[in-house]
Amino acid sequence: MPFSAPGAPSLGTAAQRLQEWFSVHARDLPWRSTRDAYAILVSEVMLQQTQVDTVVPAYREWMGRFPDLGTLAEASQEEVLKAWEGLGYYARALNLQRSARLILEHHGGRVPREDEELLALPGIGRYTAGAVQSIAFDLPRAAVDGNVERVLCRFLDIDTPARDRRNQILFGRIVREMMEENSPGDLTQALMELGALVCLPRKPRCDGCPFGGLCLARSRGTVSKRPVPRPRKPTQAIQASVAILTDGERIFLQKRPPEGLMANLWEFPGGKLEEGETPRAALRRELFEELGIKVRGEKKVGTIRHAYTSFSVTLHVYLARMNGSESLPDPSGNLALPSGWFTPEEARRLPMPAANVKILARWVEEPD
Ligand code: SF4
Repeated sequence: MPFSAPGAPSLGTAAQRLQEWFSVHARDLPWRSTRDAYAILVSEVMLQQTQVDTVVPAYREWMGRFPDLGTLAEASQEEVLKAWEGLGYYARALNLQRSARLILEHHGGRVPREDEELLALPGIGRYTAGAVQSIAFDLPRAAVDGNVERVLCRFLDIDTPARDRRNQILFGRIVREMMEENSPGDLTQALMELGALVCLPRKPRCDGCPFGGLCLARSRGTVSKRPVPRPRKPTQAIQASVAILTDGERIFLQKRPPEGLMANLWEFPGGKLEEGETPRAALRRELFEELGIKVRGEKKVGTIRHAYTSFSVTLHVYLARMNGSESLPDPSGNLALPSGWFTPEEARRLPMPAANVKILARWVEEPD
């Protein structure tokens, strides 16, 4: 529906009501007290795939450790990954550090304002660029995340999936129009906040919504049908076995390859089950293939389940105490991946995937 058409909601009125609502109801989040572009960039990258409650303490700690682009650029990769632990999707942390280095090298240490320069930085897409441009620089750029998509799909009663290209173009236009008489930074945050606090996925609180009667889905009774879901790809379920190899005092860990999923994180050795294989057989095969050792007498201590965006993993966890008569994997030998023997204390300081952090806490630091 064109927005000059009869029956279309008034964007000016909607934007004004939204701003008024935001000035009263905005949560006191640490990144809201600054317009520093680096701080806004950090918060937006953290919020991309992580809940606000998890991000708040992580953001405070990160800004304490890396208060500016320079400290982040100079930090070791290990420090950066460790500071990101608990947020998941570690590529975001490494991209932030790469961006910091590029900004120092090519932009005189200032986060760039223009589309082309921002979008050229690793890990910065249309959404993050729009958030930084509008919040830090007050430029009229749209930042449409999942929350904002939901609000707009309902407000405009969109009957096709939000991610359809035509809808994305429409959302950008609508948001920019709403920014015309308002602060772009406040408008961006107000839309996000409305999606987070009022226009909730399952039970939107329409009675407390500043859009009220302007919302087309509400007036047409289609709120529960908006947004129209995207056809889903089935989630892949992965089974894997891992070993806590211990010599009694230390545990053996391997570093993941430098590219791909969870790059450079440390983990317990093991691997995926092949078709028809039992968890124990998979463990023995993987340890022999990867480390050249034959374990016997390993004891199953439990399972860990962890869900990622497109797959879920069930880890079968075994404890294998290696004694002198068995050959221990030798990190200085010819192993395919960097590896080492660590005390639990040392292991805790290494960046690890979430499921491995759980294993460490459950069976190494507090063994049954
Ligand atoms: S009126 Fe209800 S459905 Fe419409 S934007 Fe507000 S909370 Fe969402």
